[in-house]
Amino acid sequence: MIITRSADDLAQALGAPSHPVGFVPTMGALHAGHASLFAAARDECETLVASIFVNAMQFDRPEDLAKYPRTLESDLQICRSEKVDVVYCPDQTAMYPTGFSTVVSVGRLGRILEGADRPGHFDGVATVVTKLLSSCRADVAYFGQKDFQQLAVIRRLALDLNLGVDIRMVPTVRDHDGLALSSRNIRLSDEGRRRALSIPRSLEAARTEYERPGSTPSSVEEAAKAALEASGMLIHYVVVVDAETFVEADGFDRTSAILVAATVDGVRLIDNALLD
Ligand code: AMP
Repeated sequence: MIITRSADDLAQALGAPSHPVGFVPTMGALHAGHASLFAAARDECETLVASIFVNAMQFDRPEDLAKYPRTLESDLQICRSEKVDVVYCPDQTAMYPTGFSTVVSVGRLGRILEGADRPGHFDGVATVVTKLLSSCRADVAYFGQKDFQQLAVIRRLALDLNLGVDIRMVPTVRDHDGLALSSRNIRLSDEGRRRALSIPRSLEAARTEYERPGSTPSSVEEAAKAALEASGMLIHYVVVVDAETFVEADGFDRTSAILVAATVDGVRLIDNALLD
């Protein structure tokens, strides 16, 4: 496995790679969710590139950035065992040298929901992913369903800018108790984690209501909200949207998704389920 720290080193390490080149961008603190992205990519691609970069540009709150776990040595071990060929782990200066001034902004999809609550977040994501995709010249890039809006933003970006990369979704990996794996979970107290379990429960309640004849997007939202409210978490949104356009759905003619964001112990958690 080759470890590179600048775009030039990465280009040199890749040389003339065997195609398809698969790419998995991460911010490190790797867990089984990331490993499932590596496994999907390893399965389908000749060359596997991963990046580990805590992207300051996508954090709207400096304290969130400061608290972000940094575990490079164990991350590299996981990359090795998942048979990653090349890891790209630049520092902030290598990614954003003095004079850097371009921002990639995806429009409405980047401004609603997570984008509304975290101004500038998706501009940061879109900018770094554009840079990463052009640096590794990936044919296929893999993203987790857990960050469903991020996936939609990246799909839009790849299409709008003709990036020539296929975007694949990998299902959310959950802990034994149903909580979606996230590098933020280690910041939860025992009590906070117990409360956070109302998130997967709310998605279950949403699915059950969805299957009831006569259910509507708003009855599904209400069912999910009731499960969350019981936990005392701070709810940011519980919403049913069209899974592609993210327009709030009037009915269930197309695939819908339910998206949830809530905070406990000062930790913002998101999760979602496809209703189909
Ligand atoms: P992050 O390091 O948090 O930026 O995440 C890097 C990639 O891993 C993103 O595409 C995430 O959606 C994905 N990811 C994070 N957690 C999970 C999970 N529990 N299951 C599947 N994919 C995940």
